[in-house]
Amino acid sequence: MSQPTGNIFIVVAPSGAGKTSLVAALLDAEPSVELSISYSTRAARKGEVDGKHYHFVDQATFKSMIERGDFLEYAEVYGNYYGTSAPWIRSRLDVGQDILLEIDWQGAEQVRKVFPEAIGIFIAPPSIEELERRLRGRATDSEDVIRRRLASARAEIDKISEYDYIVVNDDFERARLDLISVVRANRLRSAIQCRKLAPMLARMGQGG
Ligand code: GDP
Ligand code: ADP
Ligand code: 5GP
Repeated sequence: MSQPTGNIFIVVAPSGAGKTSLVAALLDAEPSVELSISYSTRAARKGEVDGKHYHFVDQATFKSMIERGDFLEYAEVYGNYYGTSAPWIRSRLDVGQDILLEIDWQGAEQVRKVFPEAIGIFIAPPSIEELERRLRGRATDSEDVIRRRLASARAEIDKISEYDYIVVNDDFERARLDLISVVRANRLRSAIQCRKLAPMLARMGQGG
């Protein structure tokens, strides 16, 4: 594979921190970033569309995909399996596309082993109490699921220093602008710009 010019953004957050809402807002502002659609064995929530929010598959299908090596990473999260398609990621990187993975911390660690240059972004809630309020307010999960997600949140926050960027989702608009800034700043890194702008820089060099 030639040197890709695309960035890999990995967004991790405790469940309920606002990751899905913030990523949707980012993609609205920056449509050239493409979201990786994960495979998942969990049941679709009301309003979720197969192929848009997730590729919903059963356990047997997921297991055969693991055996075929179809996943760049996969993990068990709150009792369900989630995985990122390896062929899809490689096809996008091959054409220099910026991609974004909305995955859990275990998946983030696996991806960073394959792509150390991937940019890790952690979305933090302003407090555990607010996280609980949002999970309940979303009204998509059972009491048991909410308890499990809150218990994991503390452990996830303990690993926060492993990420390149931390965005606190207190005021949504501020968090949205912070996330957009991270994406824009990374696109302007000179290692990337030098490759993207090679023809223009060469012309200016010759002219000057
Ligand atoms: P929410 O994002 O917390 O509302 O809940 P989801 O059910 O959509 O996601 C559950 C967990 O699975 C989250 O921690 C996600 O980041 C994680 N997840 C989603 N897709 C993937 C994936 O492809 N790979 C891995 N490893 N984790 C994923
Ligand atoms: P995640 O994908 O991290 O689980 P969601 O994007 O589903 O989180 O957000 C969880 C809930 O919190 C949703 O009901 C969402 O509307 C709400 N929410 C997200 N960001 C904020 C915010 N800054 N202030 C208040 N509520 C928020
Ligand atoms: P939910 O079930 O609420 O949609 O997601 C729960 C968690 O699973 C979230 O933290 C989400 O980021 C994570 N998740 C979703 N897709 C993937 C994936 O493909 N891989 C991994 N490792 N985690 C995922």
